[in-house]
Amino acid sequence: MVSEANCLFCRIVAKEIPAEVVHETDRTLAFRDVNPQAPTHVLVVPKDHYPTAAALAAADDGLADAVLAAAHAVAEQEGVAEEGYRLVFNTGPGAGQTVFHVHGHVLGGRGLTWPPG
Ligand code: 5GP
Ligand code: ZN
Repeated sequence: MVSEANCLFCRIVAKEIPAEVVHETDRTLAFRDVNPQAPTHVLVVPKDHYPTAAALAAADDGLADAVLAAAHAVAEQEGVAEEGYRLVFNTGPGAGQTVFHVHGHVLGGRGLTWPPG
């Protein structure tokens, strides 16, 4: 496992910090956002530490595919896949990324406007 000291999401993956886990595979973990912005707001992370979506895309071992598949599995499990959901990767501080362990936000269960602002 590629882990980084003092990374919040590495610590959640390591079960050092509690989280409400809703989905898990050998390579991914999904847990509810502590400050939900929609009825369904789940964060999907690779268990290995990659800081951004760009770094995950460069991982080149199918890990990005695994994260996308896990996000869709979460949407199915949460019952929002059919009506539609948003999958967001804030990438970089200018886009509002605050935790530098890549995570996809699965948002659903309410009307979602576009553009997001
Ligand atoms: P970002 O702004 O980096 O795209 O998203 C980080 C997300 O992590 C935010 O939506 C924030 O609410 C969530 N978050 C921050 N700290 C914690 C935590 O300790 N536990 C959980 N479950 N979510 C967190
Ligand atoms: Zn990490």
